[in-house]
Amino acid sequence: MFELTSEVQFALEATRQAGLLAAQVEKELVTAALTKDDRSPVTVADYAAQAVVAAALQRAFPADRLVAEEESGLLRQPQAQDALLLVTQYVRRVEPDADENVICEWIERGNGSTEGHFWTLDPLDGTKGFLRGDQYAVALALIKDGRVQLGVLACPKLNPAGQPSKEGEGALFVAQRGQGAWVTSLHQPQDYRRLRVSNQADVQQARLLRSFESGHTDAEKIEAFARYLNIQAAPLRLDSQAKYALLADGKGELLLRLLSPSKPDYREKIWDQATGSILLEEAGGKITDLRGKALDFSQGRTLRQNRGVLASNGVLHDLALAALKAVGAVPDEAQ
Ligand code: AMP
Ligand code: MG
Repeated sequence: MFELTSEVQFALEATRQAGLLAAQVEKELVTAALTKDDRSPVTVADYAAQAVVAAALQRAFPADRLVAEEESGLLRQPQAQDALLLVTQYVRRVEPDADENVICEWIERGNGSTEGHFWTLDPLDGTKGFLRGDQYAVALALIKDGRVQLGVLACPKLNPAGQPSKEGEGALFVAQRGQGAWVTSLHQPQDYRRLRVSNQADVQQARLLRSFESGHTDAEKIEAFARYLNIQAAPLRLDSQAKYALLADGKGELLLRLLSPSKPDYREKIWDQATGSILLEEAGGKITDLRGKALDFSQGRTLRQNRGVLASNGVLHDLALAALKAVGAVPDEAQ
């Protein structure tokens, strides 16, 4: 088993609470809203999740910095009063004494600087999946001097055996540098199972993992890549860093984040990659950008020095990098 340090304990408990809270919002608001385009459940879930993680961090490590996706500015506007009220109702399920002002202050803790030692949080990764009733995750990671040291991922719509499951137990993943990647039940964390990537070395038998949302990738180039390598299986499409968890668990071999043709200058956000990357590496996999460069978490809130992501079971990494080049999916150096 991995070492249960106070940092690991905090990260597991805070991410788990946030994941359970997001699952409650999903059940009660998304399903109730019926109007799938109504983004308010998302707002409630991501603010509430960020608030509870920030509150737990403040208690456990008051001096630690947090770099998280959400800001409280909008939530303090008069037109957001109803949303803030709902956020408060949910946060109180975990923090019974919280009021609106304290909740906004917790959320504001997420604008910490990215120097030295800090935590990064995606309070609701896979927003579109959340609204669709598909995959989403809460992702928390600890970064020290530009390197991810610890990551925890709560996936309410995966089960601990690594299968998508709408009404299941949920899965809680954890990885600590040098100590492996592990999974347990989100609702009843107890026994941990160690994750290992697939050892499939025949690329034709490989399974690709990609974003569900075509706007977050380049669907045409993914097809060209699969054709070039004569990959037989259809790609597995799902939202959020649940993809990395499945890759770490041997449920696929290659994960592509290609640059969307409509946003060629997009830079990955650190909170979208930090937890996923350590889960994968600690399960024996490999992650780089599309040019084969290591992900550099020392550049602020984005991976400014990187372009896109290739993640793999390790064995197929070099072959996939060469194929990306051959199908024109690697951006020019000038970009
Ligand atoms: P996924 O679930 O794989 O579609 O990834 C979700 C994440 O993609 C979100 O958290 C966004 O931060 C990020 N994202 C948003 N726009 C883009 C884009 N144009 N290219 C790549 N990722 C994006
Ligand atoms: Mg995200």
